[in-house]
Amino acid sequence: MLNARYTRLIFVLLLVIPLFFHLENRTLICYYVCLFLVYISVLVYGSYFIQSDFFIRSLWKGDKTRNAIAITFDDGPMKDFTPHLLDLLKSEKVPAAFFLIGKNIEGNEALVQRMVDEGHVIGNHSYSHTFWFSLNKSETMYNDMQKCDDEIIRATGKKPKFFRPPYGVINPMVKKAIEKGNYDCIGWSIRTYDTNAKSAAQVLQKSLKNLGNGDIILFHDWGKFTIGILSEFIKEVRARDFEIVGLEEILKTKAYY
Ligand SMILES: [Zn+2]
Repeated sequence: MLNARYTRLIFVLLLVIPLFFHLENRTLICYYVCLFLVYISVLVYGSYFIQSDFFIRSLWKGDKTRNAIAITFDDGPMKDFTPHLLDLLKSEKVPAAFFLIGKNIEGNEALVQRMVDEGHVIGNHSYSHTFWFSLNKSETMYNDMQKCDDEIIRATGKKPKFFRPPYGVINPMVKKAIEKGNYDCIGWSIRTYDTNAKSAAQVLQKSLKNLGNGDIILFHDWGKFTIGILSEFIKEVRARDFEIVGLEEILKTKAYY
């Protein structure tokens, strides 16, 4: 798999190769401009596709030997959405993982404790979840992540080991902060696009497309159609002979310290 280290090596080689040939200036400029654009494209790909494992190895797919999948919800807790999700998951007897935004926890502590009591797993999704989170210094990110841990500990007494980066964006600074905090970086294998889908049918189609062993599905608490399609999703998953298991079980690792 192409990762940041090998990519750097390959591009350093590609940088020096023209020095061994007698190329015209125009050709040389074209070559370096193209090389630069390709390099930037590879970095962007590595940053935005958590499954690329480009900067850091993420846990984005679980046990492939079992007919089982796991579901995850990002951005909660949210008073208007999360209780409905929890009710539905409880009635369907389905465990899930919730990646929480630290600043949403104050005032919603009972909701967070309810997640734990009902057998769901909690992970850190940063405290601030700002749009520019990944452009911060690694120290700033680390402090933000710790602040989210503090909120989760305050609400549940549990220190999370799972961290999912806001927007799934990874770069060398995010990697450094994750490593400093000793987190497991958690990704997903199926993105439902439930926050910007045009219809419930679209979310259902995306969430079930190419469903396979070990898949980790990304939903959001506040997805416009998420709660509406969840029963149908669970029904269809079961009709295809898949079991919905907890994230710890599918990843075979613990969620807390
Ligand atoms: Zn998020």
